[in-house]
Amino acid sequence: MFTFQSIEVYHTSLTNGQTTCVDAVRYYLQQIANGQNLNAWLEVYEEEALKRAAELDSDRSSNPNTIGKLHGVVIGLKDVICYKGHKVSAASKILENFTSLYNATATQRLLDEGAIIIGRQNCDEFAMGSSNENSAFGPVKNPIDDTRVPGGSSGGSAVAVKADMCMVSLGSDTGGSVRQPADFCGIIGMKPSYGTISRYGLIAYASSFDQIGIFAKNIDDVGIVLSVLAGKDEYDSTACQKPLKNSSDFNSDKKIRIAYFRNAMEHPGLDVEIANKITGFIETLKKDGHTVEAIEFDLLDYVVPTYYVLTTAEASSNLSRYDGVKYGFSNNSHGQDLNNLYTQSRSKGFGKEVKKRILLGTFVLSAGYYDAYFAKAQQVRRLLVNQTKEIFSKYDAVILPTVPYPAYKIGEKKDPIEIFLSDIYTVYANLVGIPAISLPLFTTQSGLPFGLQVLTSQNNDLHLHLVSKKMIDLQSLMK
Ligand code: GLN
Repeated sequence: MFTFQSIEVYHTSLTNGQTTCVDAVRYYLQQIANGQNLNAWLEVYEEEALKRAAELDSDRSSNPNTIGKLHGVVIGLKDVICYKGHKVSAASKILENFTSLYNATATQRLLDEGAIIIGRQNCDEFAMGSSNENSAFGPVKNPIDDTRVPGGSSGGSAVAVKADMCMVSLGSDTGGSVRQPADFCGIIGMKPSYGTISRYGLIAYASSFDQIGIFAKNIDDVGIVLSVLAGKDEYDSTACQKPLKNSSDFNSDKKIRIAYFRNAMEHPGLDVEIANKITGFIETLKKDGHTVEAIEFDLLDYVVPTYYVLTTAEASSNLSRYDGVKYGFSNNSHGQDLNNLYTQSRSKGFGKEVKKRILLGTFVLSAGYYDAYFAKAQQVRRLLVNQTKEIFSKYDAVILPTVPYPAYKIGEKKDPIEIFLSDIYTVYANLVGIPAISLPLFTTQSGLPFGLQVLTSQNNDLHLHLVSKKMIDLQSLMK
């Protein structure tokens, strides 16, 4: 039977003739069929994936030495990333049956390196949420315990990797949507620096925060996919023009200078078991010779309000394009006027969470409140950036919990403020544009996974990758 360990091992088995891309695709299609109750996929490209796998197998047999970096790697895309000729709906009724007219740059780069895209994955509508309960196509379930949420908004993408339905998934992370579901599902989720991966062809939620991120089970695979996707792009002027900073000063013996935020670790909302396990790991890091110091982060309580003011403002502007005329769903009844068409299409097309955020964003941008909310939040964002520069002038990395508590029951959390506050540890990286990753290092007494979040300075994604490798190795030595 087909088994997957890592891209490298898979490539060796392919070149040795022990397996084929068709075997891999057949295996994942079966896994997807077995896990249908999890609702992780909105569409599976069964025939197409098998056809591409067969083509790749035949290419490989004629040119065994020229295989792409992602040759035969079976990948799922969150339903916010465009794949030409395929539907993309942002898990919203308003985009139901809308077909991508072009490939996202990320999709194109995957295909150019030989990846097989197997389907599109369920998520919170327009990537707004932390539990995947906001999809217009039903909630996604956590494969570890299907009465629990998988996290969100990229829940389907995390579940697909966890439940072995594909090798790698791409999600998007505006305030934690890759790291948070990775934490709840016990896999790796990385959000690169803002601009590392082009946003061209990613459906916008909040453009100055959005970033495509990577889910995988092992850190080397994250590195390979990152190396394929990173880089400038003439279609996205916010994509970083420079290549990622070299990581050669981070050889394997180098000791790391790490900071953690004392008030984050002592926060009353943080689950005691999570706090204790991370504190224990801090001791392990110290014993291994790394410097780990507590620092105060006095802006911690401002990150969630700042994030929700700015992202809803950007969303209200980005989502104004869905008017029932240009894209997808239209409530087109004979004889109605234009305003009525807009109102009816948007009222019926958008779900509750999205409407709430459009209203909130429109409010904070309105003439009477702009200075009090939007301008203030921009100022806080600037303070955060300045403080972050100072922190990384002294430290190589910051560690934090990823989420204050492990995966909860579907339907359990109803208070919207409480749900917003659960983003307290993840939104910081997006506010300041730095790379961050959730590493599945821990499990609670009751068997639920949770992650350690590691952050490095902007454009130091390769450092983050190496630091993550060290932490994973260290933790596996402890087991
Ligand atoms: N939970 C956050 C929100 O609802 C993050 C979403 C995201 O990263 N896309 O906005």
